[in-house]
Amino acid sequence: MNSQLFIYNTLKRKKELFEPLNPGRVGLYVCGPTVYGDPHLGHARPAVTFDILFRYLKYLGYKVRYVRNITDVGHLVNDADEGEDKIAKKAKLEQMEPMEVVQFYLNRYHKAMEALNVLPPSIEPHASGHIIEQIQLIKEIMAKGFAYENQGSVYFDVEKYNGQYNYGILSGRNIEDMLNTTRELEGQEEKRKAIDFALWKRASPEHIMRWPSPWSIGFPGWHLECTAMSKKYLGESFDIHGGGMDLVFPHHECEIAQSVASTGREAVRYWMHNNMVTINGQKMGKSLGNFINLTEFFNGTHSLLTQAYAPMTIRFFMLQAHYRSTVDFSNEALQASEKGLSRLLDAYKSIERITPSKEENTLKNDSITSAGELIVKSFEAINDDLNTPIVISYLFEAAKIINSALTEQCSLITEEIRDLKRFFDLFLFELLGIKDDPKDGEASYKSFAKAIDILLEIRLQAKQNKDWATSDKIRNELTALGFEIKDTKEGFEWKLNR
Ligand SMILES: [Zn+2]
Repeated sequence: MNSQLFIYNTLKRKKELFEPLNPGRVGLYVCGPTVYGDPHLGHARPAVTFDILFRYLKYLGYKVRYVRNITDVGHLVNDADEGEDKIAKKAKLEQMEPMEVVQFYLNRYHKAMEALNVLPPSIEPHASGHIIEQIQLIKEIMAKGFAYENQGSVYFDVEKYNGQYNYGILSGRNIEDMLNTTRELEGQEEKRKAIDFALWKRASPEHIMRWPSPWSIGFPGWHLECTAMSKKYLGESFDIHGGGMDLVFPHHECEIAQSVASTGREAVRYWMHNNMVTINGQKMGKSLGNFINLTEFFNGTHSLLTQAYAPMTIRFFMLQAHYRSTVDFSNEALQASEKGLSRLLDAYKSIERITPSKEENTLKNDSITSAGELIVKSFEAINDDLNTPIVISYLFEAAKIINSALTEQCSLITEEIRDLKRFFDLFLFELLGIKDDPKDGEASYKSFAKAIDILLEIRLQAKQNKDWATSDKIRNELTALGFEIKDTKEGFEWKLNR
């Protein structure tokens, strides 16, 4: 098996061979949700992207520690250094305890992730549970001289840091430009420079989430938690840090600055970023009226949706694009994905109906490749920076072979049939994480059962009208299909004998 996994490292702006820091082990950190609202596509995309990485690294035999944090404090409205905390704002609005808000939306996030078949991470630390670690980190940064206190708040000194290191190393932004263009905003007079960012904020009287610290009763800055918690659970240096592209600046740039300022070196070896999601070609936003959350997709309850989409359709659709490309959601595109996925699942279910040939495969004479070759090529694709759309195109090729064998356009020997099954089992189910959703099955079973009930009601009506021809026809044809029909006092009962 080829295990030369190459991943695109945002820090180096190129694909690099993945080599773990410690043989056999991988430390993976991904920025998780700020839990103050229902999970949406912007949550699903990084979760699904890094789920593929998590699954593949485990498949390769690594012992993976996957940490995905829960932001439950410090994330202020507009991602700024001033203003209300996103969670406290929601808590006031809903008249709940902040932790009640956190738990409520965290439960909903977990439920949505489970529906999308996203594996739970190894550790899911909360920012509010790591205030001590964050205070300790601020002390370390201050001791190195890269932070200053002003009226109970502590700020990171970007200009001083940049004199010794490189602020902008990840995002490619130029600090000179930023110093000239970053506007002085109201309420930011405490900062020496507008580009400095908060490590600790003194809480104003109305701010409800607050902790004691050496500087003031207050709360940590948003960027701090990831640096503190990744260090606690993965060490001063670890393998992979992931997140959405929108987090590159300022969040991840600030994370790098914090770890370099405190320890003298960068903690992360590979930075990976997934691209964004658009809806009908537009950025998703509450003010644009195109903000559709995952539950609305699953139930089809948003005016922009013409139907409900199963979680597996959403997952499969996202994987049909490379994680570094944007994904544009539209009804047409989702319906095409839904059809495509059911074509693959139908093909998989039909494998057992192929009669093995005693002679050799006839597909070799064709232009189609064998399942063994498709497996090799799919490993090449997934090793090439998790190229899932290419893997999916090979799965469609395999479905074509299966359908040709069923219609006797080609013949397959037992080994080839077994390889086809192995290909689907490994790539579609284990690595891409698609499951043949029993809920979908239940829904279609319900419709199917209802159709039989309708037929038997027509038969009952026919009997009452002494229309024996119709009544017998329905009974005989259903019996021939394997249905057992019993007339009862109430009407009828049926079951399907297979
Ligand atoms: Zn983060």
